[in-house]
Amino acid sequence: MNERLARAVEDRIEDLVALTVDLVRFPTVNPPGEAYTPCAEYLGERLRRSGFETVFVRGEGAPGDSDRYPRTNVVARFDGRTRGRTVHFNSHIDVVEAGAGWTVDPFAGVVRDGRVWGRGTCDMKGGLAASVIAAEAFLAVYPDFPGAIEISGTVDEESGGFGGVAHLAKLGYFSKPRVDHVIIPEPLNKDRICLGHRGVWWAEIETKGRIAHGSMPFLGDSAIRHMGAVLSAFEQELFPALDRKQTKMPVVPEGARRSTLNLNSLHAGQTEDFRPGLPSPNVADSARLVLDRRFLIEEPIEEVKGEVIAILERLKRDRPRFDYAIRDLMAVLPQMNEQDAPVPTALADAIRLVFGREPQYVCSPGTYDQKHIARIGHLHDCVAYGPGVLDLAHQPDEWVGIDDMAESAKVMALALDALLRGRQ
Ligand SMILES: [Zn+2]
Repeated sequence: MNERLARAVEDRIEDLVALTVDLVRFPTVNPPGEAYTPCAEYLGERLRRSGFETVFVRGEGAPGDSDRYPRTNVVARFDGRTRGRTVHFNSHIDVVEAGAGWTVDPFAGVVRDGRVWGRGTCDMKGGLAASVIAAEAFLAVYPDFPGAIEISGTVDEESGGFGGVAHLAKLGYFSKPRVDHVIIPEPLNKDRICLGHRGVWWAEIETKGRIAHGSMPFLGDSAIRHMGAVLSAFEQELFPALDRKQTKMPVVPEGARRSTLNLNSLHAGQTEDFRPGLPSPNVADSARLVLDRRFLIEEPIEEVKGEVIAILERLKRDRPRFDYAIRDLMAVLPQMNEQDAPVPTALADAIRLVFGREPQYVCSPGTYDQKHIARIGHLHDCVAYGPGVLDLAHQPDEWVGIDDMAESAKVMALALDALLRGRQ
């Protein structure tokens, strides 16, 4: 192991904790996108003091962007003495709402029992802080390094990343020749390398009916009963078929190594606004169902959509008066980096050195910002690697271990060394 780099990280552990605490104290809750600007400015100022050049890029026109809630991103770059490759650490600064059930103040940055507690400690301000410390340790040991290091703090990952990484990718921030390698310090555990994620297709199905008096439903046509037929076909055919589809992607947890479908929401008939009174007696003329379908790298998206549409078309043929509409809400294709690409190779070697064991390669059941880097930036040497226990993300009493952050900062510093200076 490169002892000088390891020691440079160890010398900075207090700083690592202080930085994490400071970041957690910005309540960057999304939605609505609270405190993005001061958090981005704080990070930019910190990196500027370490010699980085920083720019702030607002995700103008992105969903949620307004003067009250500007989508402020920061990108910091440190150019080495000579030309070479660029390694970029990308972290999202937004967090989800705290929710109920906390025993500590979620935005106080409590340090106790070797952990930093609070909303966003694990997902993913602890990872962001670890990447900053890794870069600063590397710069202290190798001030004459070739290439460049970039660190970004981006917004809106929790709501799709459109004002954050997607916006920056459209402006060329995640493309060659500017950037060659990207590490996203999401909390996948310190000895695991996340190569990618499953795909997602959100769609809304509407079944149509005809309004009539509820005392004479035979004069109308119930959209709810039609939707019932859709749901029953899903239960009998679709869910069992999805369950049989297995993937070679190493998705964790293992239950997600199959295709899945979540019925996100169902709305039908009248609105609930009648409360506390009574609804008027009507036959429902519309029912809407939102699907959240997660799919595998082996499944073409046409097939994913096609198996739902085939059921709807068959009902239209066989079921009297059945009519439907289907609308795409969002689609993201599955992504998976090659295990022997430069970034996973550098991280794997570093994990072997720091932990003395083989890394575990995983994929995420849900998507994260890697999708925009691959699809918009056309940059494929990207993985997620960072400290923190994935299961704690979005939970009450979220925490990140100080040792975990320090160890993964060492892994990141060693990976920087391998990617920028080559294996010595
Ligand atoms: Zn995250």
